[in-house]
Amino acid sequence: MFRRWLGGGIVVAGVAAVCWPGHPARALRAPAKRALVLTQTAGFRHSSIPVAAAQVASMGEISGGWQVTARADTAAEVAEAITARRLKDVDLVFFVNTTGNLAFTPEGKKAFYDWVGAGGAVVGIHSASDTFHGDPDYLNLVRGEFMTHGAQVKVTVYNQDPRHPACRYLRASFEIYDEIYEFKNWSRDRVHMLLSMKKHPQRDLEGDFPVAWTNRVGQGRMFYTSLGHREDIYDNTTYLAHLQGGVEWALGLKPGDDTPGNPIR
Ligand SMILES: [Zn+2]
Repeated sequence: MFRRWLGGGIVVAGVAAVCWPGHPARALRAPAKRALVLTQTAGFRHSSIPVAAAQVASMGEISGGWQVTARADTAAEVAEAITARRLKDVDLVFFVNTTGNLAFTPEGKKAFYDWVGAGGAVVGIHSASDTFHGDPDYLNLVRGEFMTHGAQVKVTVYNQDPRHPACRYLRASFEIYDEIYEFKNWSRDRVHMLLSMKKHPQRDLEGDFPVAWTNRVGQGRMFYTSLGHREDIYDNTTYLAHLQGGVEWALGLKPGDDTPGNPIR
C-alpha cells in the first residue's frame, strides 16, 4: 500500500530513458541523503505513526532522494540517536507525529541545534508542533506552537506559493479532511507560508489561518505541515505531492523561495 505514490517513479523513468539498456538508473543519481525518523511521544500517540513512518521511508526510496537510515521510537532510542557523533551521519530529521518533550539529553540538544545551523534539514509532520512546548530553541526552528483542534473537518486550503516544490503540484485551492490545528506563537511575518486557510476550521470566522510553512535557521531548513493526523491522508496524492516537495526543499534537492512574510493569495 505504500508503493502507490509514483511521483518519484516518474523521475526514475525519466532517468532510465537516457540510460543504455540494462544499466541501472540508480548508478547515475547522487547518493541518497540519510534520514533519521523520530516518532517518540511523551503525550498523545497518533495511531497513524506506523503508516506515516513507512510512507516517508517509501517515498525516499522510490524517488531516490533520501533513505531512512535510522528510526527512534522510544525515549532511549531518541537519546541515543541525537548525539553529535550520530548526527554526523544524518542529513534530515523527520519529526513524525512526535508529542511532548522528547528525550534529547542536554548535550544532544546542543548537538541537534548545531547540526541544524550548519545545514541540517528538519521536516515536521502534524503534531511535530505539539512537541517541546515552551522550548525557545524548538519554537525558533518550527515557528509555531500547537494550541488546539476541534473535530475532524473538511476544510479548503489555499496554495500560498505555487512555485515552491511543496506546492507546485497542488491546485490554487483544494479541500482536505483532517484534524486541523490552531496555533499560538505564530506569525506570517516570521515564516514562508505554503498553505493556509481563509476561514477558521470550526467557527464562522474569516482570517489567515496557517497550515504549512518553511523556516530557515542558519544554514538549516525546516519544512512543517500541520496535515497528517489520519492514516488515510498518507494515501492522498495531493498530500503526498506536498510532503515529497517539502522534503526535497528541506534537503536542498529542489529550490524554493524562503522569504518570510509572503503575502496572502
Ligand atoms: Zn492529530
